[in-house]
Amino acid sequence: MPSVEDPAVFKSAWIQGLVSSYSRLVAPVPDAYGVMSAHAPERGRVSVVIGGGCGHYPAFAGLVGPGLADAAVVGDVFTSPSAEQVYRTANAVDGGAGVFFGYGNYSGDVMHFGLAARRLAAEGVDSRTVLVTDDVASGSAQESAQRRGVAGGFFVFRIAAAAAARGYDLDGVARVAARANAMTRTFGAAFGGCTLPGQNEPLFTVPEGTMELGLGIHGESGLRRVPAQDPAGLADTLVDTLLPELPHAGSRRAAVLLNGLGQTPYEDLFVCYERVHRRLAEAGIAAHRPEVGEFVTSLDMAGLSLSLMVLDDELADLYSEPCQSPAFTMAPIAEPAVPRSRPAPRPGAGTASGPAHTAATAPTPDGGVAAEALAAALAAVESHEQELGRLDAVAGDGDHGQGIVRGLRAAAAAARTSGPGDSAEASGRALLLAGTALADAAGGASGALYGLLLTEIGGGLAAAGPVPVTAKLLSPSVEAAFEAVCELGGGTVGEKTMLDALAPFRGTLVEHAAAGAPLAAAWTAAAVAATDAARATADMPARRGRAARLGERGRGHADPGATSLALMASAAADVLNARCATADSDAESR
Ligand code: ADP
Ligand code: MG
Repeated sequence: MPSVEDPAVFKSAWIQGLVSSYSRLVAPVPDAYGVMSAHAPERGRVSVVIGGGCGHYPAFAGLVGPGLADAAVVGDVFTSPSAEQVYRTANAVDGGAGVFFGYGNYSGDVMHFGLAARRLAAEGVDSRTVLVTDDVASGSAQESAQRRGVAGGFFVFRIAAAAAARGYDLDGVARVAARANAMTRTFGAAFGGCTLPGQNEPLFTVPEGTMELGLGIHGESGLRRVPAQDPAGLADTLVDTLLPELPHAGSRRAAVLLNGLGQTPYEDLFVCYERVHRRLAEAGIAAHRPEVGEFVTSLDMAGLSLSLMVLDDELADLYSEPCQSPAFTMAPIAEPAVPRSRPAPRPGAGTASGPAHTAATAPTPDGGVAAEALAAALAAVESHEQELGRLDAVAGDGDHGQGIVRGLRAAAAAARTSGPGDSAEASGRALLLAGTALADAAGGASGALYGLLLTEIGGGLAAAGPVPVTAKLLSPSVEAAFEAVCELGGGTVGEKTMLDALAPFRGTLVEHAAAGAPLAAAWTAAAVAATDAARATADMPARRGRAARLGERGRGHADPGATSLALMASAAADVLNARCATADSDAESR
C-alpha cells in the first residue's frame, strides 16, 4: 500500500498506532519519540533501553514490556535516534538502579547513545552499554567487535531484560548481555530490496533467479550474489556458514532464531526451519526454544536470517524468563494490581516543552549572517537531496539526503530564533542553537557529527563576545570543531568520510587567515578546497561508517557526507560574498 510520504508524520503515526493498540503493555514516552513499558519505571531495578531507527518492527518498539525492554527509542527510518531522544527516554524509565543500553553497532547509534550516556552520567545516572555485533557477513572473525548488529539483538535484549527482571545489578546485567552477544552469530540472505516510505525505487534490486548473501537490515545489499535457492537449500547455506563461526563454549545447546525480513511468507520460514533443525541436530547441537517469525525486519525486504546463540547454563536459564510485549510473549504476566508509582523526575531532567523537533519555534525572517548561511546551505542540500540519497545507497543505507535536509531545516529555523546580529557572539549563539536542533532532527552518524561541528564552532564564536567575525577569529573554532568531530566519530582523514572534505576546508581557512585574508575570501578558498576534496573521495574505498562494510563497492562514487559538507560550505561562501558586495556598494554610495 502507498506509505505515508512525510517521514516525520510516518514515525509519529505508527508509534501512536502501536501505543493505542497495545496500551495494556506500552505507553508513549512523554516528550520523546519512544515507547515505554506500562510497568516502568520500577524502583530499584535496572532499566533496559534499546533502540535504533525504525523500519525494523518488531525491533525495537515491539519488544517493550514486562520481562523485556523497559523502553525503546525510535529514530527515523533506518536512522539512529538523536542523543536528546535517547536521554529523555532513558530518564523516563530510570528507576534509580542504572540504565542498560543495548543496540546495534552502527556509528550513528554509537555516537547518539554515547552522548546521552555521558549526559546521564553527569547527572548521576549510571549506565552500561553492549553493542550488538552478531552479523558474520560484516567483518572478519578476528575483528568481530567491528561487526554490525542484526537479528541477534533479540537474544541480547532478552537476556539483559531477564537479568534485570531477576534483580541483577547494573554490572551483572551488562556482563550477561555481553556474554549473550559474544555467543551469538547471524547470517542472512535477500531475494529483493526494500523501499523507503515516500520513495518510488527500492534501495537495491536483486535480479530474478538470484539472491544476495550476507545482506544488512538497512537495505544494504549483500556481499555476494548467487543463484536463488529454495528454502531447504538456503537452510544448508545458512547453517554451513554459521557452524564454523560458532564460539566453542563447551556447550552443544543453542537458542535459534529464524527471522523473516518483512516479505517472506511464514510457511517458507517453517520449510527452511525444518531443515535447519535437522542440520543442527546432525552437527550435535540441540535447538533450545527455537523461534520462527519476524523479529527484526527491513521494511518490505524479501529474505531471512538465521541467528544462533550458544548457551551456557546461566544464559539458558535467563532465556526462559517469562516476558510480555506487543510482538513477543513467553508465559503471561498478570497486570500489576496497583499502578506503580513513578519516581519523581530529577531536577533539570528532560523538559516540559515537548520534543525538541517541535521546539524549533516559529521561523522569523530576520536572523543574522549565520541563519542566512544555514538557510542557503539548506537550499543547496534540498536541491541535491536525491543525489545524496543515491550516493549513500551505493554502499550505505540511502538516508543521507533525507537526513541532512531534515537536520538543516531544523537548524536554519533554530538559528533564526536567535534574532539578528552578525557579531561573533550573535553568530555563535545562532550556531549553538542550530547544532543542537540539527543533531536532534537528523539523527544518524552525520546528524551527530554535523551537530557537533556547528555547536563547537558556535561555542568558540560565542565566547569571543560582541566583536566582528574575522577569518583569524574563526580559525581556532574551526580547528577545535575538526578535532571534536574526529574524536566523536573515531575517524581520521583518508577513510572516505566527511573528514576528507572538512580537513582541507580547515587547512585552507587557517592558511588564508594567517596570511591576513578577509573572512569571505578565506571561506571561499576553503569551500573550493572542500569541493575538490569531496569529488576526490570517489577514488577512495570506504573505511568508516556504514559504508565501510562494503569496502570496494563504493569506489567510483563520492562520499555522501563529504559531498553535503562541500555543498553547505559553498552555499555559505555565496552568502558571505554577497554580504561583502553589499557592504562595498554601500560604502561606495556613501
Ligand atoms: P548513517 O551512516 O548513520 O546512515 P548518514 O547517511 O546521514 O548517516 O551519513 C553518512 C555520512 O556520515 C558518510 O558519508 C560519512 O561522510 C559520515 N560518517 C559516518 N560515520 C563517520 C565517522 N565515524 N566519522 C566521520 N564521518 C562519518
Ligand atoms: Mg546513511
